[in-house]
Amino acid sequence: MIAENLDIVEQKICRACARSNRRREDVTLIAVSKTKPVSDILEAYNYGIREFGENKVQEIVAKYDQLPHDIHWHMIGHLQKNKVKYIIDKVSLIHSVDSFELAEEIEKQAEKHNIISDILIEINIADEDTKYGIRASEACKLVDRISEFPCINIHGLMCIAPNVDIPEKNRQYFAELHKISVDITNNLSNNIHMDVLSMGMTGDYEIAVEEGSSMVRVGTGIFGARNYDL
Ligand SMILES: *Cc1c(COP(=O)(O)O)cnc(C)c1O
Repeated sequence: MIAENLDIVEQKICRACARSNRRREDVTLIAVSKTKPVSDILEAYNYGIREFGENKVQEIVAKYDQLPHDIHWHMIGHLQKNKVKYIIDKVSLIHSVDSFELAEEIEKQAEKHNIISDILIEINIADEDTKYGIRASEACKLVDRISEFPCINIHGLMCIAPNVDIPEKNRQYFAELHKISVDITNNLSNNIHMDVLSMGMTGDYEIAVEEGSSMVRVGTGIFGARNYDL
């Protein structure tokens, strides 16, 4: 089942790339494995997937120990400052940095572990009360401030688009995130390389790819529906 789903997702990404004159290798598929057991992750791993996304610190820590260490873990959920220390040396990219204070803590822990932490800034692209992330208008200033930290590398932006019935409705938000990223690059010059756009989930990743996404985060489309009661 998981392998067949991956075939389908792969095909859809390829087609979206073809439609928008993009190269398949410029889009990374992140398999979002939250709530799913290690056995499911191994199925995707055996298919060839090495990028996995989780939204809870405890879940990353538990799965990290049970799975091969050539997996790249992506922290895609809201991150509390006091939990940074548990995952700082386990994740390859933190997608959800949404405050200067969180970045400060990441800097502190990264320095302690003698590593450079790779991060994205999360933007609340549709200004939804229910979502984390900073406002689009604050993005440039926050990137500028965080870029001063020696142990943090900002790679780009992330957004969670609204939950919509018709994926096409989210095209405007993906286009907007792309534009914000280009604007930041133009305004801040020097050593900031905003080359990652983490956008698109099961319902809308094809649209996101057409609008320039470089990381799509697909859960349900690969592993099936999640059961939060387990
Ligand atoms: C759960 C989650 C996803 C995957 O959602 P699906 O709709 O199952 O593909 C992507 N990004 C984030 C931040 C998530 O929390």
